[in-house]
Amino acid sequence: MKTIIKNVNIITMDNNMTEYKNGFVIIEDENISYIGNMAELKEDESAIIIDGNNGILMPGMINTHTHLSMIPFRSLGDDCKDRLRRYLFPLENECMNEKLAYYSAKYAICEMLLSGVTTIMDMYYFEDEVAKASEEMGIRAFLGETVINFPTCDSKDAFGGLDYSINFIEKWKNHKLITPFIAPHAPNTNDTNSLVKANEISKKYNVPISMHLSEMDYELKYFKDEFNKTPVEYLESIGLLSDRLVAAHCIYLTDNDINLLQKYNVKVAHCIGSNTKSAKGVAPVNKLLQHNIPVGLGTDGASSGNTLDIITQFKLFANFHKLENKDRSIFPAKDIVKLGTISGAKVLNKDNEIGSIEVGKKADLVIIETNSVNMFPIFDSYSAIVYSANTSNVDTVFVNGKCVVKNKKPVNNDLQTIREELKNHMQQFEQKAKEQLKKAIL
Ligand SMILES: [Zn+2]
Repeated sequence: MKTIIKNVNIITMDNNMTEYKNGFVIIEDENISYIGNMAELKEDESAIIIDGNNGILMPGMINTHTHLSMIPFRSLGDDCKDRLRRYLFPLENECMNEKLAYYSAKYAICEMLLSGVTTIMDMYYFEDEVAKASEEMGIRAFLGETVINFPTCDSKDAFGGLDYSINFIEKWKNHKLITPFIAPHAPNTNDTNSLVKANEISKKYNVPISMHLSEMDYELKYFKDEFNKTPVEYLESIGLLSDRLVAAHCIYLTDNDINLLQKYNVKVAHCIGSNTKSAKGVAPVNKLLQHNIPVGLGTDGASSGNTLDIITQFKLFANFHKLENKDRSIFPAKDIVKLGTISGAKVLNKDNEIGSIEVGKKADLVIIETNSVNMFPIFDSYSAIVYSANTSNVDTVFVNGKCVVKNKKPVNNDLQTIREELKNHMQQFEQKAKEQLKKAIL
């Protein structure tokens, strides 16, 4: 099948940051087969034509850290202290189940696709359900089952995620759009044995390993008291640092930590919205990039950052990092768009397939329309995306050559139906959540 997207301002995000001011792209089956200027476009009756109406065509955005099935938690106890341990963990254990994980994931994926996110890295529970939801919705997904040191909503035993992951990886490892991986929750919510085992599984199957790292003040204190090390130094001492590791957050890093991340080619998922809302801090992204450490953007779950789109992260990233560095010229918009596209692809070791608009790459593409009131005038496409645009400007989305969003609506799904299905499975959750909320506030 052939599709031509025409009349678009293309930002390719390739190595030369090539742009086509009035261009077109040809998609054949799953791949991009041609990129050119409109003057070269020949009529082709066999192709489906999509007129971009002078919108911006960009690579699909990549969300390198999220928890899809946490949708029911959105806006709940947003302003409570130490919400994770006092509140989210107990509620999760009591109310999260297979069906809720599945319908929540479907809803979250719909939200992501509508916002131009075409690839996600998700870690949570019931990942087999999340994989089914991802397959049905047609998103590109890296999915990892959580390994943690207590019994959970989908495991009677502590560290049940280890066995789950072996079956899960075996089941999904050859899927076209789904890459299974293993996800120890964090260094301080595991023990040395479980971390080493998780790493062995990652190595054996050659799949990524991802965890929260250097995110919590009590995490730092624990490793200082127990091992006289930082969390990163501890992971190095047990052989966990490698180019398969995607470390989420990395807020509190010493210079030695950064050197270690570089030495072992570790990747970082930076979640500026989640980290600043929880008043934790701003990760040293400038230093990480100076050390050539690949950094992608992540939203974290809907309970942490509330939105699941990368366009919101672009804005938050610009504002916080400019303020933090007291320099309005640091991180120009072009560099910020890189973090959400090609750099995110490098974090996932998939930059040979996705992250930029290049012939031979997978057709993961987004048209940002420029007719809305907030999109005029435009002097620079990157600035327009980072500072002017919001998710309502996402008009058309392709994943792997398939159109999944058109005219701002899901192509094969109905958002209202997906919402109703989720709502029907949220009744017990809502009741318990209200009880927990009262306790948390007291
Ligand atoms: Zn997280």
